[in-house]
Amino acid sequence: MILGSGSAWDTACVQLGNAARHLGLDDGLHELLRTPRRAITVSVPLLRDDGSLMVLTGYRVQHNLARGPGKGGIRFHPSCDLDEVKALAMWMTWKCALMGIPYGGAKGGIAVEPGLLSRQERERMTRRYAAELVPLIGPEKDIPAPDVGTDEQTMAWIMDTYSAHTGHTATGVVTGKPLSIGGSAGRAGATSRGVQLALFAALRQTGRDPHSTTVAIQGFGKVGALAAQYLHDAGCKVVAVSDVKGGVYNPQGLNPTALIRHLAEGAETVVGFPGTDTLTNDDLLELDVDVLVPAALEGVITIENADRIKARIIVEGANGPVTADADRILEDRGVMVVPDILANGGGVAVSYFEWVQDMQAYFWSEDEVNDRLRTLMERAYSEVAMLATTQGVSMRQAAHIIGVSRVAEAHQTRGLYP
Ligand code: NAD
Repeated sequence: MILGSGSAWDTACVQLGNAARHLGLDDGLHELLRTPRRAITVSVPLLRDDGSLMVLTGYRVQHNLARGPGKGGIRFHPSCDLDEVKALAMWMTWKCALMGIPYGGAKGGIAVEPGLLSRQERERMTRRYAAELVPLIGPEKDIPAPDVGTDEQTMAWIMDTYSAHTGHTATGVVTGKPLSIGGSAGRAGATSRGVQLALFAALRQTGRDPHSTTVAIQGFGKVGALAAQYLHDAGCKVVAVSDVKGGVYNPQGLNPTALIRHLAEGAETVVGFPGTDTLTNDDLLELDVDVLVPAALEGVITIENADRIKARIIVEGANGPVTADADRILEDRGVMVVPDILANGGGVAVSYFEWVQDMQAYFWSEDEVNDRLRTLMERAYSEVAMLATTQGVSMRQAAHIIGVSRVAEAHQTRGLYP
């Protein structure tokens, strides 16, 4: 196991390096797999509502296109930078391959705090960014989706901007769109449903009963909130959740439906929800629970706190929440980590279904979507669990070995141009 420094890009490179070594890939192919195919930085000038001009920086990275068009979310967050986007794009490459989806990996974002912009400012910013990306994206080139700080409205603006530039309505240019413009039934909850399926598979594998399982979830956004809801509905006790402002805890179990309603009615944070104690995000990670679901940002479990994590199972709703060094500590301590590229693969699975439906202009029922999602999640989980057992490696290493080997095989089969 190689040691890393803790950044997302470093963690991603360490994970690739471990898989490449296990697979015996030669140095040239390893280098090819590490290097992003395209990485673009764009300036995004934004006219503020008060008449002033602000210039933001946006990114789009297409990490690897050997197995199909690029696929990956767009993030609006102040700490977004090129290295983070490169790491997230690389993880998308392995995730799509692991999930058996014919896409490459991509990611994008703007370094901005979207909460400080008005809706009109967010729309102008999104459309200008999308206009800069028009030559790069498209249903057969690169298909964005929501990520941190973006949502289905963001996707609608990108789809409309792209369509205006190309002269025809191109529903397949983004996924995670509203249903009214070619979105898929089941997409909004797909990542969370996938997290629940992965978590339940891990409980089965370790002989645990969901009804006596306690869960803490960091991040109460698109992924975390519905993961809390689905896990609660399926019988687990969700005892703590958090957002950027802090967390709430109730050892008797929280009511996710009431918490989601509380936010929908205008509360800015889960903190202060009646009948709960307040705790910090750091405290939440170290709670004495059976399962921890990090579902916010990368790099939250590090060499600093990995020794203090009490959960026996970590299911990574977020991308890259555990640094490479922390991973080694958790592995030594026997903590089972269901890795991001498997645990949150439900999102890209249903994004793929959305794209297939858009390309065929023929839409499926929510039950059909959820059934197909279950099939893909359970197949990927059992492939990873089987390899981990037979090769004596962690679930993370097994997932990367499968993903990386499929992409390496695509390169070797296609050959190198010219
Ligand atoms: P989101 O913006 O909807 O929610 C993010 C949540 O994290 C919010 O509750 C926010 O308050 C919280 N948060 C932000 N900064 C935090 C911090 N420093 N400490 C604690 N909490 C913080 O984003 P999302 O779409 O739910 O994405 C969450 C994670 O899941 C990301 O890592 C993303 O890449 C990953 N992911 C998302 C999808 C998807 O379909 N949306 C799919 C796969 C993976």
